[in-house]
Amino acid sequence: MNCKGVILEISNYIDGELDLPVKEELERHLEDCEDCKMVVDQTRLTVEIFCDSKPVELPADVKSRLHEALHRKLQEKGN
Ligand SMILES: [Zn+2]
Repeated sequence: MNCKGVILEISNYIDGELDLPVKEELERHLEDCEDCKMVVDQTRLTVEIFCDSKPVELPADVKSRLHEALHRKLQEKGN
C-alpha cells in the first residue's frame, strides 16, 4: 500500500471497518512512513475531539475537508 492508499482508507481504518489483510497492509506502511503515521494520529485526534471518544461517524464536511488537506499535503511532497 502507498501513501495515497492510506489516505483513501484512513476513515475506514479509524472506524475499524477495514478487512484484516488491508488493515495489516496499512499498518505495515505506517511503520515505515512517518508522514502517514502523523496523518493517522492527527485524524484520530480529530475524530476523538468530534466524537468524544465514542464510535461516531465523522460529519461528511469534516471528512471531505480532511481528505482535501491530506491530498494537498501529498501533492506538496511530490508523491
Ligand atoms: Zn505514507
